[in-house]
Amino acid sequence: MNIVIWGCRGSITSPGPSTIRYGGESTCIEVRTGAGDVIIIDAGSGIRKLGRQLLKEQSVTKINLLLTHSHWDHLAGFPFFQPAYFSRYSFALCGGSDAQTSVLKYLMHQMDPPYFPVNFTELKARFESGCCCNNGLCEKSLQYADRSMRCESIPLNHPNGGVGFKFSDSSGSFVFLTDNEIRYSHPGGMPRDAYVGFCRNAGLLIHDAQFEESEYKKTRGWGHSTFQDALDLALDAGVQRLGLFHHDPDRTDDELDRLVDWCRNYVRQKGSSLECFACVEGMKLSV
Ligand SMILES: [Zn+2]
Ligand SMILES: [Zn+2]
Repeated sequence: MNIVIWGCRGSITSPGPSTIRYGGESTCIEVRTGAGDVIIIDAGSGIRKLGRQLLKEQSVTKINLLLTHSHWDHLAGFPFFQPAYFSRYSFALCGGSDAQTSVLKYLMHQMDPPYFPVNFTELKARFESGCCCNNGLCEKSLQYADRSMRCESIPLNHPNGGVGFKFSDSSGSFVFLTDNEIRYSHPGGMPRDAYVGFCRNAGLLIHDAQFEESEYKKTRGWGHSTFQDALDLALDAGVQRLGLFHHDPDRTDDELDRLVDWCRNYVRQKGSSLECFACVEGMKLSV
């Protein structure tokens, strides 16, 4: 499978000279199956540019849209996602518990007047509910993907809840866990061991790493992990590659460079071959 990162900034978009290298767009990930089917995870601001790209591909009309949760940095790009305005597109929507109604509601409510000039009901695309992604195998989540791709989900440790996803095919697995606070128990979240099991031997894990240990003294309970938490999870799970994600909006490019160096040194000291990097807007990865 091929993966493109269209947005990796956490909490709010952060354009500007100090974030230009890692990028300021908020969460949006594109996954293409081996057969070329399209899966989009989250509709943060990064989805706007992905939409422009998809319009150029006449053959793509069916899109799986999976949402981790309803916070604005994961939703606010949707009204600017141009394929939603064309009748040739169909979307299979998936998300957390009650997804049958609530994912659609998340998307609708943010376009209610007076928040946005176009109402959701004016969109021309077709929206179908997929499954409620509770804990386990999401049988119907990838309605528009061939059966060689499997999708599993796990509840996140995050305020207001959410879900993480694992995609597996014959070449390996990709786990996406953003907005997940490993060291804290939020209602509906899972114990650390469950995340270790979920990530076991993944070829690629992209995980929330918003805070440094020194910052976490203040931010504990906010729903995000530290760099060390993400590393320890990847190491314990035997992951091959770890992408650090949900960069703090105040984190400069130079600070991220320093933190990635720190992470690589940490991995070396543990004697592991884990490959660790910070996600970059526009980055292309394959599993
Ligand atoms: Zn977020
Ligand atoms: Zn969130």
